[in-house]
Amino acid sequence: STLALEVEDLVMHFGPVRAVDGVTLRIRQGSVVALVGESGSGKSTVGRCIVRLLEPTGGTVRLADADVTHLTRRQLRPHRRNVSIVFQDPAGSLDPRLSVGDIVGEPLRLMHRKNISTKVAESLRRVGLRPEVAQRSPHELSGGQRQRVSIARALISEPRLLVADEPTSALDVSVQASVLNLLADLQRDLGFACLFITHDLSAVEYLADEVAVMYLGQLVEQGPRSRIFGAPAHPYTQALLSAAPVPDPAEQRARKPVLLGDDLPSAIDPPSGCRFHTRCPVAVDTCRTVIPEPRVIGEGGHQVACHLVDDNGTGPDVRTGEGV
Ligand code: SF4
Ligand code: MG
Repeated sequence: STLALEVEDLVMHFGPVRAVDGVTLRIRQGSVVALVGESGSGKSTVGRCIVRLLEPTGGTVRLADADVTHLTRRQLRPHRRNVSIVFQDPAGSLDPRLSVGDIVGEPLRLMHRKNISTKVAESLRRVGLRPEVAQRSPHELSGGQRQRVSIARALISEPRLLVADEPTSALDVSVQASVLNLLADLQRDLGFACLFITHDLSAVEYLADEVAVMYLGQLVEQGPRSRIFGAPAHPYTQALLSAAPVPDPAEQRARKPVLLGDDLPSAIDPPSGCRFHTRCPVAVDTCRTVIPEPRVIGEGGHQVACHLVDDNGTGPDVRTGEGV
């Protein structure tokens, strides 16, 4: 198959907290899918289920055609090389008692590979660090260097899929762009598929082939990047994009940021019907009672879950007030 990842109807509940509630998502070999949404929407939980740091409550996760949803640690071992994760906070994810070389080489050690130190040096060079860094301790490095170390570690096993969970948001603004550029270069050169979890929309525009928009544990819209940015159909997607700068000043002036007001509702008792109805500027009565199912509305599998969007993707635009 040409799929690096296939997630079907993924559910992850923590007791009463419905963090993820029916997410279906596919990533083709070599393509980058951005998963966007506010913090608390369940994005990181999806990422952790995919790399099986969490065992999903429901649904399935397939990595390169293998169903890994309920495998034990031992059973997971042969699949480990197919997927890696880079976390937001490199300081918290790198063991300070280990040298950089041990950290980067660990995935290969777990796979009983040979010539690990050669591969570590190569992997460090790939992320722009000198091989001597292998002898250092992670706390001697800057935040940007530490994130490069975690990227080197994640890619040393040449995974088919990389989950990057807000890989630059804990870094100084001055180094965010260089780490993002590095990820883009590595992705292009090595060809791995990537689930890029972020709320940085300019990074999404730069890196992603496709975009999936998450709200309170569910996907409300997904499709090719050009469609999501050019013709966002879901009022929530439109609201997210309304806050991002656009290059054309005239267009910028025509748009007003859509203020969603209240905070994200609780995932313990999510709103009935459309979960977005409590904040949606164009909600109608039906929205409170009937759950909108995702429907294909355009090319490239552009899908949206909203009662007011028709089969051609026509509906209100909350940014301009058109069709509202
Ligand atoms: Fe808004 Fe209703 Fe569409 Fe939900 S279904 S996004 S509440 S218009
Ligand atoms: Mg998160």
